[in-house]
Amino acid sequence: MNRVYNFSAGPSMLPLPVLEQAANEMVCYGTSGMSVMEMSHRSPDYEAIIKEAEALLRKLMNIPDNYKVLFLQGGASTQFSAVPMNLIKRTGKADYAVSGQFSGKAFKEAQKMGYDVKCIATTKDDNFDHVPTITRDMIRPDAAYLHICFNNTIYGTKYGYIPDTGDIPLVADLSSCIISEPIDVSKFGVIYAGAQKNMAPAGMTLVIVREDLLDYAEETMPTMLEWKTMAENDSMYNTPPCYPIYIAKLVYEWILSLGGLEKMKEMNVAKANLLYNYLDSQDYYFAPVKKDSRSLMNVTFVTGDADLDKKFASEAAKAGLKNLKGHRSVGGMRASIYNAMPYAGVEALIAFMKDFAANNPKA
Ligand SMILES: *Cc1c(COP(=O)(O)O)cnc(C)c1O
Repeated sequence: MNRVYNFSAGPSMLPLPVLEQAANEMVCYGTSGMSVMEMSHRSPDYEAIIKEAEALLRKLMNIPDNYKVLFLQGGASTQFSAVPMNLIKRTGKADYAVSGQFSGKAFKEAQKMGYDVKCIATTKDDNFDHVPTITRDMIRPDAAYLHICFNNTIYGTKYGYIPDTGDIPLVADLSSCIISEPIDVSKFGVIYAGAQKNMAPAGMTLVIVREDLLDYAEETMPTMLEWKTMAENDSMYNTPPCYPIYIAKLVYEWILSLGGLEKMKEMNVAKANLLYNYLDSQDYYFAPVKKDSRSLMNVTFVTGDADLDKKFASEAAKAGLKNLKGHRSVGGMRASIYNAMPYAGVEALIAFMKDFAANNPKA
């Protein structure tokens, strides 16, 4: 076995102990005589898995009792449509902050559906090199919610604060930073996240929604997108993404065994600091993100020369450091260092960066 350090932004690395346990249980789960993939989602064995996954996540994130936890299909992008359809009826209008591509897509999706939505803040003119500063007076007082993307996967930025929205529900896309550090769930009306960045394989989408927000769904909306229906059926209105939920359960167990989200944060800060400190200490590479908006999960950098950037990514891949090419829309490099990336992976990356800089002097 020769596993590489995989810096992919998603789908991305999973913890090795989780993969090993899944491999051990792949063909025969416990005494069930079958793989989790082969189980009816209504079977007692599977019901135990999904219930345990929810219980572990509640413990891990300290989710208050008045929030529902939903394990859905469709990816985070489906929630771009589901969010307005479930919530806008509260007041008839909603506000968005656009801090990168995904929040831009969420905003456009709501616009496309003909809703009264307003972009109240964007950092587009600065190439999204930081997140907006949002204050309460910027939000329309009768907005049904404010939507933000908490960690901007493509640009490598993150909100260093939770915007104060008063009694207006804050709806946040946490796809690329979920369970990377403790977060006060009670500050949000809705949190959603695709699983494939930091939680499980692709195919599962997590929605955490405050119960009082379940009553505003459009009457004509597709049942599959309606949070209330999913909540009333414990995510089993139809077949849930069974296998990713099972892997998510193993991931939650792995994090809890290490010491929970406080410990995860400590490990993630250590990895990110190592890389940012190196970036700040030299002038071959440049980190475009403003310091107070730096992501713990996605670290972007450039050499300033597109050809060198390309060479960097391809030589790094040959050295066992995979998927360091930046998003196709922005170029440069991006190292995604989610929970499963070991400290040694970041050390190996920095060693490679030093060698590359020494061997490829700029003209
Ligand atoms: C990857 C990502 C998405 C898109 O997720 P899908 O599951 O592919 O729909 C949305 N938002 C953020 C922040 C992401 O990182």
